[in-house]
Amino acid sequence: SEERSLNFIEEIIEEDIKNGKHGGRVHTRFPPEPNGYLHIGHAKSICLNFGLARKYNGETNLRFDDTNPETEDTEYVESIKEDVKWLGFEWKNELYASNYFDQLYAFAVRLIEKGLAYVDASTADEIAQQKGTPTAPGLANAYRSRSVEENLRLFAEMKEGKYKDGEMVLRAKIDLASPNMHMRDPIMYRIRHVAHHRTGNEWCIYPMYDFAHGQSDSIEEITHSICTLEFIPHRPLYEWFIDELEIFPSRQYEFARLNMTYTVMSKRRLLQLVNEGFVSGWDDPRMPTISGLRRRGYTPASILDFCDRIGVAKRENVIDVSLLEFCIREDLNKSAWRRMAVLDPLKLVITNYPEGEVEIFEGENNPEVEGGEGSRAIPFSKELWIERDDFMENPSKKYFRLGPGLMVRLKNAYIIKCDDFKKDDAGNITEVHCSYIPESRSGNDTSAIKVKGTIHWVSAAHAAKAEVRLYDRLFHDEDPVANGRDFVEIINQDSLQVIPEVYIEPDLVNAEMGKGYQFLRKGYYTLDKDSTPENIIFNRTVTLKDTWAK
Ligand code: ATP
Ligand code: MG
Ligand code: MG
Repeated sequence: SEERSLNFIEEIIEEDIKNGKHGGRVHTRFPPEPNGYLHIGHAKSICLNFGLARKYNGETNLRFDDTNPETEDTEYVESIKEDVKWLGFEWKNELYASNYFDQLYAFAVRLIEKGLAYVDASTADEIAQQKGTPTAPGLANAYRSRSVEENLRLFAEMKEGKYKDGEMVLRAKIDLASPNMHMRDPIMYRIRHVAHHRTGNEWCIYPMYDFAHGQSDSIEEITHSICTLEFIPHRPLYEWFIDELEIFPSRQYEFARLNMTYTVMSKRRLLQLVNEGFVSGWDDPRMPTISGLRRRGYTPASILDFCDRIGVAKRENVIDVSLLEFCIREDLNKSAWRRMAVLDPLKLVITNYPEGEVEIFEGENNPEVEGGEGSRAIPFSKELWIERDDFMENPSKKYFRLGPGLMVRLKNAYIIKCDDFKKDDAGNITEVHCSYIPESRSGNDTSAIKVKGTIHWVSAAHAAKAEVRLYDRLFHDEDPVANGRDFVEIINQDSLQVIPEVYIEPDLVNAEMGKGYQFLRKGYYTLDKDSTPENIIFNRTVTLKDTWAK
């Protein structure tokens, strides 16, 4: 909102604009690796990068950071584009690090020519060994002093496919004694004889993240390259490559990644949940992915509001997942249409209502807005479904629902009085018998009767049926990966509860995909993507109140 104070990146940008840096231009990028679906943590980065461009009349590139062909796929590219668009953002250019493979190769050659890169035939273990430890400097090997000519020839041969995976790497020649381990001759290129989702078999050498990212930023003339805190130690290397190559001086800024309670937030772990069948897929409504949240019934506005509330900080923290739930409740309370559905049905018979008669009541769609956004017709008849827990045989004094002799209002309809009930041999209540007060018709009540409770209901003769899916947290513990444990141990086996047959008011047959509905007294629901007219399925997005016991 306009009200909040500037975050530290906005302060930097405003200072840069004031000083006329890059002509006052702001150009950010969002750089996902297409090796999984986007999650709510990515949403924070999206809101930040696109939000800054929006605020400062700049632009944002969507750049796929596709330099690891083994794990990347076009399926992920498509899902990422869909999710960014769904959140409401438009990118200036759709770009791929792989677009720059030729340019990056030329950059590497330039560094070799400057005597700043060399081909190393050591094994990965030897390289790690020779790197030393943070307290002991690394050792130079014989490859480090190869001639420029030899390095140029070997690097060209690496590219031509003359060597096997792992046989050689190209390393930057920086400082084997640097206190920053990333500066101890980092690897720039490795050999991978693997097809790439865009470049196919054109390349068998691929640049490392550190050699691809900053140069990609620079090629695109990104002014503010924003990433998460773990990249702070990479920054000197980011700047070293740019300075030595004498290319556009993009600069990197780091912010704290989003961590959230009861949630795992790395694509590797989310992939494990999918692959090991703990969820039905990346878009399972229990997943913290954008696609899972969408399927669950989250709206873009609620996710943007969440990102705005958590802010942008320089220190790691953990956000309570109930803040995300608060944001969707706030949004749906304003926008969801009200409907009635009975999840655990009990038959109610209105003994003094004529057999075969049907009345049509009107129910406002949305009482939160002026005019109610219109209304829908709600049929009423002699036999209704109510919730089983809206009747008690021996109610306590504070129970304002149905019990022998008690009165309630049926939402949008009449006041009724409970006269009797039926039980089966096992002692289960099978029917509740009530009489209605004809003068108590909703909107035209002349009965002068005051009742404390209002309950929802569905006419038995008119009800449609639906499957309802209720979701709970995926994990039993706030920190699923505490002390490095395997999160599988604390998975909540009851995180999905399916109610195969729920009675819904007839208008819900017209429910629209992507729209939120408040089932009165029961929470917010949305159609699942697998719902069909013959087999209607609703997901519960969130309960009405924060009922989750801590
Ligand atoms: P993961 O660890 O889940 O694989 P990643 O950082 O490898 O995440 P990328 O696809 O490289 O995933 O991320 C794209 C952008 O999103 C990066 O700039 C990254 O910093 C940012 N990002 C990823 N996770 C988070 C998070 N939890 N909070 C904020 N930003 C994030
Ligand atoms: Mg990454
Ligand atoms: Mg990753």
